[in-house]
Amino acid sequence: MAEKRVGFLYDPVVLEHQPPEGHPERPDRASETFAFLDQSGILERLTLLPVTPATREQLERVHTPAYLDHVERIVAQGGGILDAGDTAASPGSWAAATAAAGASLGAVDAVMAGGMEAAFALVRPPGHHAPPDQAMGFCILNNAALAATHALAHYDISRVLLVDFDVHHGNGTQDAFYSSPDVLYFSTHQSPAYPFTGSIEEMGDGPGLGYTVNVPLPPDIGDAGFQAAFETILRPLAQRFQPELVIVSAGYDAHWRNSRYVAGIRERLTIKGLCALSAILLEISDTYCPGRLVGILEGGYDLESLALGVAGTLKVWLGDTEFEDPLGPAPAHVREPNIAPLLAEIRTLHDLSADALS
Ligand SMILES: [Zn+2]
Repeated sequence: MAEKRVGFLYDPVVLEHQPPEGHPERPDRASETFAFLDQSGILERLTLLPVTPATREQLERVHTPAYLDHVERIVAQGGGILDAGDTAASPGSWAAATAAAGASLGAVDAVMAGGMEAAFALVRPPGHHAPPDQAMGFCILNNAALAATHALAHYDISRVLLVDFDVHHGNGTQDAFYSSPDVLYFSTHQSPAYPFTGSIEEMGDGPGLGYTVNVPLPPDIGDAGFQAAFETILRPLAQRFQPELVIVSAGYDAHWRNSRYVAGIRERLTIKGLCALSAILLEISDTYCPGRLVGILEGGYDLESLALGVAGTLKVWLGDTEFEDPLGPAPAHVREPNIAPLLAEIRTLHDLSADALS
């Protein structure tokens, strides 16, 4: 089978966002991942695409003018605190954040009009915690939400499936589309964990009711649990929704090695498991909207598993079927909690009948 045409968007300007020393969301997340893709020969199989920073008009499709003014002002003053908990701006943050957003929009253009069959934006700062009017949880601009609104505004489509497999709930993305039936937001995330949203009862409202689907997973879930969530909930949802574009908030922090870097993370995905999820996303795209698959980097704080995880997603989307997992499974064996009752409850809540699973 011929290799798929996969676009890749990376601009070193994203390294100019520099949180304080010791912060887990650090520039080498992007630079070392890029270096690994280069050294391992994956980069030469990708089509490297230029990055154009997102415009004010594009940003205002998700974010409020007052918030954008606020960030620009803080950056112009040389940086400062954006979110009391954990998000600060440095002098290069606006350039980095608008490039990250622009790369995410460019990934949409690459698959909608640029002849690519998939595209991946290697960006930072991440985006999925940022609601329309504030910075939050290492995030300044919501790259995935901006990509979805760009797709809806620019192309003749009305159904975007936005899948978020970051270990944290994408509260900002959920907020952006909570009342909209145009974007189906599906998230697997550890619960309880930051930002403490994403319960199964959060299902959207008004015309958006049923278009937010949360799968809060207990700690210690590994490959089997994540895959079961994708197989028994995401697949039938996609069948009902018939997406015209699939956007992935690709966070690699559910990999077991991240427990060392961010407090509270206990999920136990492996590189193999991340590849399996990436393969299901490719199959969904191939089934309903062939060639329209976009990945946007969110979290992932252990550099080695981040680079291997991104490489794994890219290899799957290129068409590879064999992978190594040099990191293997988490060293201490823990039995995965049984989540079958949870998944059954979510299927009932969202009216996903058993026959839709076949
Ligand atoms: Zn995360």
